[in-house]
Amino acid sequence: MKLLIFLLGAVLTSGVICFGEALADGALRHFLTGRSRCSHCQAELSPWELIPIVSFVLLKGRCRHCHSKIEPMYFGFECLGGLLFVLCYQRFGLSFASGLNAFRIVLLLAISFLDFRDMNVPSVLLYAFVITVLPNFALHKVPFMVVVGGVVYLFAAKGWMGSGDVWLASGGMVLVHSWRDVLRFVQVTYISAALYAVALLLVKKRERKDAMAFLPFIALGIVEVLLHG
Ligand SMILES: [Zn+2]
Repeated sequence: MKLLIFLLGAVLTSGVICFGEALADGALRHFLTGRSRCSHCQAELSPWELIPIVSFVLLKGRCRHCHSKIEPMYFGFECLGGLLFVLCYQRFGLSFASGLNAFRIVLLLAISFLDFRDMNVPSVLLYAFVITVLPNFALHKVPFMVVVGGVVYLFAAKGWMGSGDVWLASGGMVLVHSWRDVLRFVQVTYISAALYAVALLLVKKRERKDAMAFLPFIALGIVEVLLHG
């Protein structure tokens, strides 16, 4: 069962990432009608090459036609998707909550992937995530929401976060229901982002003032709250 769920997570993650890429490139029609292609030689991929992880391992990370490298990030995110699906299943079993959280996780992974690689995340993915958190509004105490919303607004107004960050953080804040969760969310987000920033500075991939992808760290905070909150 767990293997099946792992594969489902990997397949869906891969699919939503491709969907997001197509949206970002304005190639949605092609995504909906055509088969996937190699981004280098444009060769159409056969069905078995679309199976995540398995095809990557069998092809040793290269295109079958032109032998150019397939980005290992795909492989990494597909594995992560599978793993998070299994964790989700362990926490919620086979339930509506499990399905909903799994869907949220897939969106978060696609958002993180595109932010990490291109810093270009289609708004549709962010809006879709915000829509998935709407049912949680019903569970909230009003004063709690006002305070938390105020803090997010402050960050947004001060320009400390980009507009995509604000959307995602707002969505995440709807999912937290206690101060302990807020603390956890903020801790995970900021500590992971800080570690990443320091690592980038150390390997000199980034100047101090360069923009840095921040959505993946907000996403990490949300996943922490979803699976352990
Ligand atoms: Zn190719």
